[in-house]
Amino acid sequence: MPQYAYDLHIHTCLSPCGDTLMTAPNIVNMAYLKGLDIIAITDHNTAKNAAAVVRAARGVPLTVIPGVEVTTAEEIHVVCIFPDVEGAEAAGEAVYKRLPPIENRPEYFGEQILMDENESDLGTLPLLLSNATDISIDELPDMMREFGGFCWPAHIDRPSNSILSVFGVLPDKPAFPALEVYNPHRFFADGSNAIYRMNHRILTSSDAHRLVDIAERERFLELEEPSFRALKAALLGGRSDKL
Ligand SMILES: [Zn+2]
Ligand SMILES: [Zn+2]
Repeated sequence: MPQYAYDLHIHTCLSPCGDTLMTAPNIVNMAYLKGLDIIAITDHNTAKNAAAVVRAARGVPLTVIPGVEVTTAEEIHVVCIFPDVEGAEAAGEAVYKRLPPIENRPEYFGEQILMDENESDLGTLPLLLSNATDISIDELPDMMREFGGFCWPAHIDRPSNSILSVFGVLPDKPAFPALEVYNPHRFFADGSNAIYRMNHRILTSSDAHRLVDIAERERFLELEEPSFRALKAALLGGRSDKL
């Protein structure tokens, strides 16, 4: 099976912490220049800029998967991806509605810029996207499945906003098909972490908030084709549909 270079965790200028240069065409151009085959757009608690990146990639040999990085009630970051823009946007709306009613203050947290594929400024989102939603980690996988998506914990090796930093260990439930490890070299240097490789696919994505941080062509997935369907089959293959 062919191998495809991936980066399944990239923010746009809609995330308050995302650089204003993280526009749709810039992300597509940088991912293409770096030789990536498949990327996912995962802003904090919204998918409103994902469609712009999908459209900006038309005619470019790059697959863009729309997604969301949800902050659960426990303050765990979870990457969620969807088969199409409609599903991602509907999921993003449902997630956004579960944010606390606290408005962004751009002077402190950064702008949350909505844009289209031509870099037209479409305004901003009012609620602060970096807050935690009231969606529990137990509830999230089922909720995302309703929109055709699936999810896995982000940067589990980070000291904050990660499932391991919150729980200390990976809970048995809910079950996830994959785990994102930001620095696998360092994480697996500790032999006691080998257990996380036994039942999960380990993914390493960039969590890029700046163009320069988008992944190089160095992490690969064996896929039938660079698509959501093939990605789902590769990550959930052989697992029960409950995942
Ligand atoms: Zn995160
Ligand atoms: Zn992120």
